Amino acid sequence: MADPDLTSPAPAPLVVAIDGPAAAGKGTLALRIAAHYALPYLDTGLLYRAIGRLAAASGVDPDDAEATAAIARTLDTRALDDGSLRGREAGELASRVAVHPPVRAALEAFQRDFARSAKGAVLDGRDIGTVICPGADVKIFVTASPEVRARRRTDELVAKGREATYERILAEVRERDERDAGRATAPLRAAADAHLLDTSELDIETAFQAACELIDRFLARRSGV
Ligand code: C5P
Repeated sequence: MADPDLTSPAPAPLVVAIDGPAAAGKGTLALRIAAHYALPYLDTGLLYRAIGRLAAASGVDPDDAEATAAIARTLDTRALDDGSLRGREAGELASRVAVHPPVRAALEAFQRDFARSAKGAVLDGRDIGTVICPGADVKIFVTASPEVRARRRTDELVAKGREATYERILAEVRERDERDAGRATAPLRAAADAHLLDTSELDIETAFQAACELIDRFLARRSGV
């Protein structure tokens, strides 16, 4: 019998980079894309969240670049499974530790190795298309107005029975945008070759369909169809 490896070579890896500001819907979109194309998925925000949380728990100042970088260098990625990392407090700590160049440098190799998996990968974050995977096959920059993002985040929290006021969440969204876009190292910005996907007026299903069209177009082009 013919060797199946010779008759059907493994498909070329597919790397999809998804960036954008907080609460634009990147995570949901990235998860759906990863499931649809059967690719491993990395939520890179969790890396910064875990470092922020570990710093706070061990009395390290999140604004101390060297001390937080030491945590980043020894980060055990099993810590990423902690569900509480997705909360607001961890998000705020994450954006503080994420401004430090040595923290970002310590996380680069892990993210790049992840993207080099045999099948490829979907990564979401702020600097995937610009710094971590500048050669990604498809780059999508997901945005939505701060007001829409704050409304979605407020509704999400209220649905979970948590206390949340729209004005406060809007202020937090704006503060996080400013810090993420204004930092000197790897600021939040779309790569020149990223496709912009503004979800202000789109539901998740429509945004997902739009992303699949971009990816399918890339795959068709690559296979010469
Ligand atoms: O995406 P998420 O809200 O979980 O990210 C938390 C924070 O981590 C962001 O506000 C940002 O400051 C930082 N981050 C980053 N680079 C990434 C992912 C997240 O700076 N690739």
